Amino acid sequence: MNSRGFSRAIDSSLGTFETIYLDHHATTPVDSRVAKIVFDMMVSSFGNANSVDHVFGETAASIVTDAKGRVAALVGSDPDNVFFTSGSTEAIRLAISHAIGPVHASPLRIALTRVEHQALIDTAQLAERLGIAVITWIDVDHRARLISESLHAALESGTDLVCVMAANNEVGTIYPLGEIVPLVHRHDAAILVDATQAAGRIPFDGFGADVDYLILSGHKIYGPKGVGALVSGAYEASRVYGLGATHDATPNVPGIAGMGEACRIMLSEGEVETRRIVAMRDRLQKDLVRLIPNLVVNGDQENRLAHNLHISVPDTPNDLIVSRLRKKVAISTGAACMSGAQSSSHVLRAMGMDDGLQEGALRIGLGRFTSESDIENAAAEIAAAVRDVRNAMAGQDYE
Ligand code: PLP
Repeated sequence: MNSRGFSRAIDSSLGTFETIYLDHHATTPVDSRVAKIVFDMMVSSFGNANSVDHVFGETAASIVTDAKGRVAALVGSDPDNVFFTSGSTEAIRLAISHAIGPVHASPLRIALTRVEHQALIDTAQLAERLGIAVITWIDVDHRARLISESLHAALESGTDLVCVMAANNEVGTIYPLGEIVPLVHRHDAAILVDATQAAGRIPFDGFGADVDYLILSGHKIYGPKGVGALVSGAYEASRVYGLGATHDATPNVPGIAGMGEACRIMLSEGEVETRRIVAMRDRLQKDLVRLIPNLVVNGDQENRLAHNLHISVPDTPNDLIVSRLRKKVAISTGAACMSGAQSSSHVLRAMGMDDGLQEGALRIGLGRFTSESDIENAAAEIAAAVRDVRNAMAGQDYE
């Protein structure tokens, strides 16, 4: 594997080509150190962590315990509160069903920001349709920052659970959880923080341990897909759900060990990595602004994830740009679940972005293996693709 190996893709059906990978919000390549641990666990530590009558099970159980410690260290929480899931979507569903509780005399009052991930919005809306939750929306401004009055109004009208993501997966805006978590608790509500994009990229000191339900996912931090975690003291305190079940599912030990290693690397290298990535992101932004007339940079430029660059090429269909880049640079028209569907993004709508800017919205996500030359080449390719689409539109030969 060469040093840039992870930014490249090979498509055997179309011949070999190189594509620069700049879609790290959708998923990240697995770090080879993580992959090695996953492989080792699969072949040598195959015991069932719930079957601890012998050394095989004991070894597997100790690997799970170790991974819990690494996840907890990354988000400043207690290892006993870490529960592994198949990813963030499952962790969100588990958290919300736990907050609703097994007996729902009155519906759970949930307040959520309009820019939460679709996985959370869908879960809350399903609960509302079932009559076991009622939703209050918390508004954001044009940079996707929380509108404080809207949060206060939700809290004052009576809320049981507040959902505020740590950072947005489209425009990268980071939320001030150091202030929000104690505020929510002062109103006797619980807080769910979806840290899927932020874990390892922002510090959790000072509030991580106080979050009632914290969500993270392995594949966003250079770990394997199919593993995530719900970190929750509340869940730990009343864990036996489902008719008093006493059986825990057999843990996915290789995935869990991989997620633990991904968290360890993020904790030990995240700060330095973030500085390197932010410098490249800023350079890419500068290049694109210089090369593309009328380019707009979206989100909160003072307070966004280091690897996020969200831009709009006004009145220029983003799907045409992305399709011209297909074999050269992997970027996205928005959240992964929206891509391909070509529906507009609920995040950009919540920000009040005008239609022309929504139409030309592009999400770029840098990562651990992005190189300076990737940035240079990506800037040139993106600018060329935009020129191409604009020329085609001027000649009216596009659909
Ligand atoms: N929450 C956020 C903020 C995300 O970005 C994603 C994935 O894009 C999810 C939740 C869902 O994560 P998973 O793929 O682990 O289910």
